[in-house]
Amino acid sequence: MTVGIVVVSHSAALASAAGELAREMAGDSLRMALAGGVDDDEAPLGTDAVKVMTAIQELDSEDGVLVLMDLGSAVLSAEMALDLLPADMAARVVLCEAPIVEGLIAAAVQAAAGAGIEEVAAEARRGLDAKASHLGVEPPEGPAQPSAPLGEAAEEGALSAELTVPNALGFHARPAARIVEALGPLDAAVTVIDTTTGRGPVSARSLNGLITLGAEQGHVLALSATGSDAAAALEALGALAADNLGDPPDDRVSAAADPAETSSRAPDVDTAEDPSRRPDVLTGLPAAPGVAVGVVQLQGAAVLPDLDDIPEPPASLDPIAERERLDHALATAAERLTAAAEQLQRQAGAGAAEMVRAQLLLLEDPALLEPARAAMDAAEADAAGAWSAAVQEVLATYDEVDDDYLAERAADLRAVGREVLAVLLGVERSTRTPHGVIVAEDLSPGETARLDPAQVDGIVTAVGSPTAHAALLARALGIPAVVAVGPRALTLEEGDEVVVDGTSGRVETAPDATRIAEVRDQRAEAERAREVQRLAAAGPAVTRDGTVIEVRANVGLPADAARAAHEGADGVGLLRSEFLFLDRDRAPDEDEQVASYTSICEALGGRPVVLRTLDVGGDKPLPYIDLPVEANPFLGTRAVRLGLRDEALFTTQLRAALRVAAEHPLQLLVPMVATLAEIEAVKRLLDEARAALLAEGKPAAEHLPFGVMVEIPALALKAAHVVPAVDLLSIGTNDLTQYTMAAERGNPALAALLDPLDPAVLRLIGEVGSAAVGHEVTVAVCGEVASDPSLAALLLGLGVRELSVPPIDVPAVKEAVRAVRLADAEELAARAMACASAVEVRALL
Ligand code: PEP
Ligand code: MG
Repeated sequence: MTVGIVVVSHSAALASAAGELAREMAGDSLRMALAGGVDDDEAPLGTDAVKVMTAIQELDSEDGVLVLMDLGSAVLSAEMALDLLPADMAARVVLCEAPIVEGLIAAAVQAAAGAGIEEVAAEARRGLDAKASHLGVEPPEGPAQPSAPLGEAAEEGALSAELTVPNALGFHARPAARIVEALGPLDAAVTVIDTTTGRGPVSARSLNGLITLGAEQGHVLALSATGSDAAAALEALGALAADNLGDPPDDRVSAAADPAETSSRAPDVDTAEDPSRRPDVLTGLPAAPGVAVGVVQLQGAAVLPDLDDIPEPPASLDPIAERERLDHALATAAERLTAAAEQLQRQAGAGAAEMVRAQLLLLEDPALLEPARAAMDAAEADAAGAWSAAVQEVLATYDEVDDDYLAERAADLRAVGREVLAVLLGVERSTRTPHGVIVAEDLSPGETARLDPAQVDGIVTAVGSPTAHAALLARALGIPAVVAVGPRALTLEEGDEVVVDGTSGRVETAPDATRIAEVRDQRAEAERAREVQRLAAAGPAVTRDGTVIEVRANVGLPADAARAAHEGADGVGLLRSEFLFLDRDRAPDEDEQVASYTSICEALGGRPVVLRTLDVGGDKPLPYIDLPVEANPFLGTRAVRLGLRDEALFTTQLRAALRVAAEHPLQLLVPMVATLAEIEAVKRLLDEARAALLAEGKPAAEHLPFGVMVEIPALALKAAHVVPAVDLLSIGTNDLTQYTMAAERGNPALAALLDPLDPAVLRLIGEVGSAAVGHEVTVAVCGEVASDPSLAALLLGLGVRELSVPPIDVPAVKEAVRAVRLADAEELAARAMACASAVEVRALL
């Protein structure tokens, strides 16, 4: 415990304002309670002994409580409060005559630094010294005796140390958060003065205090630490400084701030956040190529109320209920931010997650909580009003410092403030029809799949990963997308006109008319070139030596099917049926599935459609299915494993497929198969479903062509045994790569490992290709690798005879196939499989 401080004033506002200043200086280890004004709406100015007593009780500890008062009845009320308290508690209280503002600030810093009550009181009494000396007048006489007995003797003097700010960006939010966190578990109060500017002291435990110190690289800081862990605290801060305050080495920081670097840099979200000094360009990760201009539409969590959007408070306020509401909202916002940090950690790496964790600290910052609680206690505002005012007050402090970087951190504070306000006001996620440039915290695969490319120009998300399904879908839809921009994505405002460059990963937030015209021209030119290619795609793709290669489309929803036909696809090679199941609260029944698959078949006008059975689990959870909590969901109960566990769900889908296949050229494809036993089990369920349908007098295809996806190396290596059991083998290189390289596909930190051109992956594809020679089995590739026209020859050389790609890529892939001579391709494939690395393969290509 540290010394507690009670502020007694006739005015609740004065107590609160003085408390706010003290908190700003002393940070969150300060134990302070406010006893300002009286609970009388008509005449709120006055003092109340019971309030003072309650405040002292709240803070009472062996270390004692210092009471600072304004004048007149404030002193009388404080004395009366002592009479009301038990004698032992009253004996630990010092009523101090020091001036309320200067005394409080001086006392607060000392108390937060862990000083004993005598020292705290003495410091309070010296509160006018600095001002007096500055103005050249004599300071008041030395300290008077305390008006009540003291508690323990003062602690030993503070330890001190000097630290030179090492990192290029100085005390921005993340280093400041790291300092607060480093001190977290230690019994030490540390204050910081920037001796270069004279700013401070601030508590090293206050995020806002540290940030507003504005310490820049090279500034010399004087640290003062007290408490039993004072030495350890200084050591921890020294170690943090030696580690560049946890920032990347400065060459990386400056590289990231260079606009020329952004198009070629590796996916590193930590650096992506750093060019914050150029607020007209936000950088993230390129997720779907193309450049577009459009008007921002906020979606999902981006639709948060403004800090000024506060409804009138109720006529009578219950301070306790309002405090509880704020506490609940803070806890809810903390849960959301924690979840977002965890997701970012998985999808975009530790640097991005750390940014969000720094925001979590804001939810605990006394500079916000103290004034908000004081306003509620004084029944001046409800939770929303009090919180909003506190946030705006601190924002104003940020504004006072003319520094681009701090302005950006203020944006973080604003975002957190709005997040809490949204909970308080019960603002729900948006249900608006998406159009323009969608700006969201993140988009789920289901939400992305439902975007209409005719309405949506681009996508910008705060989190997300270029290899996640949502990004693949954006590519498939031809919508330029930039993901993992960080929380600043959410500072874009509804109605802003922005340029989204999904090829380089940049969002231009203030394009001028010339730039907008340039982007529109660029887009129109790209459209014209594509149209020429599309018209040629209507015919078959035949290699130069006469082999017909099916180029089909990967589709999710019925709307994609129309697009596939429009682009000249020879059918659907992968119908990701799970998109019919995602983002709803119960599974589609058999009839709904029949209707949906039928509409897709009809859109393809008689061309074959490969229906992949439900592939959920991994990064595609289904809320209404009781999926087990697993440490490694991608290695868990996913896809066919779930189908065989939840037979009712699976059988409904098999029945729907059999009914549609009775009328249309539908084929079945089972994902994530590892063993022949799984193939047998699915076939058994299929036979049972067929028999049941026929017994019910319903149509059921007599022969439903049956295939499995090759996504697990174990199956590829057994391809020779699998071939006789199936009609179709479709190689899912997205998963095959992740399982071969043991690198999770949504984790950009592992992007270099997730390379389908690794010779190990190529050999597995080659294994399947050779096993199928001489059999009536189609070997397809439906992973993303198939959509790269420059890889068509390699895949055909490995024995692949069908490529299934996003609809938008069909024309370019057909064009590439037409340039291939199979004999050359086979030679190329043999050489690629013999390479030692993906780099060598690329060099060969
Ligand atoms: C694959 O894994 O390559 C594949 C096509 O399936 P999905 O991407 O849907 O997992
Ligand atoms: Mg897969």
